[in-house]
Amino acid sequence: MKLDLSCVVPLYNEDESLPELVAWIDRVCTAHGLNYEILLVNDGSSDRSWEVIQELADAHASVKGLSFRRNQGKSAALHMGFQAAQGEVVITLDADLQDSPDEIPALVDLIRKDGYDVVSGWKRKRHDPLSKTLPTKLFNWATRKMSGIELNDFNCGLKAYRNEVVKAVEVQGEMHRYIPVLAKNAGFARIGEKVVEHRARKYGSTKFGLERFVNGFLDLLTLTVVTKFSRRPMHFFGMGGVLMLVVSFTALAYLGVTKLLRLKAGLRPGLIADDPWFYISLTTLVLGTLLFLTGLLAELILRSSSRGPRYPVGATVRWPEND
Ligand code: UDP
Ligand code: MG
Repeated sequence: MKLDLSCVVPLYNEDESLPELVAWIDRVCTAHGLNYEILLVNDGSSDRSWEVIQELADAHASVKGLSFRRNQGKSAALHMGFQAAQGEVVITLDADLQDSPDEIPALVDLIRKDGYDVVSGWKRKRHDPLSKTLPTKLFNWATRKMSGIELNDFNCGLKAYRNEVVKAVEVQGEMHRYIPVLAKNAGFARIGEKVVEHRARKYGSTKFGLERFVNGFLDLLTLTVVTKFSRRPMHFFGMGGVLMLVVSFTALAYLGVTKLLRLKAGLRPGLIADDPWFYISLTTLVLGTLLFLTGLLAELILRSSSRGPRYPVGATVRWPEND
């Protein structure tokens, strides 16, 4: 690999911060003899960010830029940066100068020398309002429990990756909060953490509102289900289907047996539609069938999707390359 380092910076309306950020990264990398590129991904900013990026690219050979036509979200921006990254180590930084480029050399060493696949920054001392830090604590706790990864701060923008990791993970939707989880699922198990300095936002304001916490939680649910069942959806839907049908047939059997017993005893059998169990049986029958059909459809879609499954490969020997 010709480059030591790729810095991937997703940005949305951050024109004031960019020159300072690029100059700072440049200063740190030059001082440490790191061969680097800076990938600035403009996420559909409506301010002067793209003009600033073009000016910076003129002034610095290491600056590369890409611009979305409209705002696509931080995950999409990171994805484009990851696709393009050529450095042996890939570091993501927020554009707002809340993450300090001074942390770069230590992060690079953790990946290169200490053999980590992912190192996540940990903003132990935060310069954010309580309305943000408190829900964040809850979010991190839930993610730790569900993923089994012992990180204190999943959502820190400052993270370092081995190049193979960023090529193996697919960061979509708002999954940027869970890249360590995606990395673990792809088989990169050496995930570490480094306490980093967190600075107050210097220019502009935060780009995420309170909905981040609801979205974050929903994403965590999706991720848990998807990582477990995305290759075998029938096991997920079928489980519910079986449960529903068991209830349905038990209720049906109960209805039938009581009716027979009453007939045998010479009693007037009555309408089974008068029994609440009739409706329970009916509802669960419909639900169970729907769940089965959903599972079946999911399996069919999985089989017919043109792109086959992607399994991140660790190493090969005399293995033909065909992509
Ligand atoms: N960002 C982005 N697209 C978006 C929202 C945010 O590229 O739709 C960038 C933003 O410009 C910044 C980083 O993601 O570089 C983190 O955003 P922000 O600082 O607003 O988040 P916070 O620090 O408040 O969590
Ligand atoms: Mg920020």
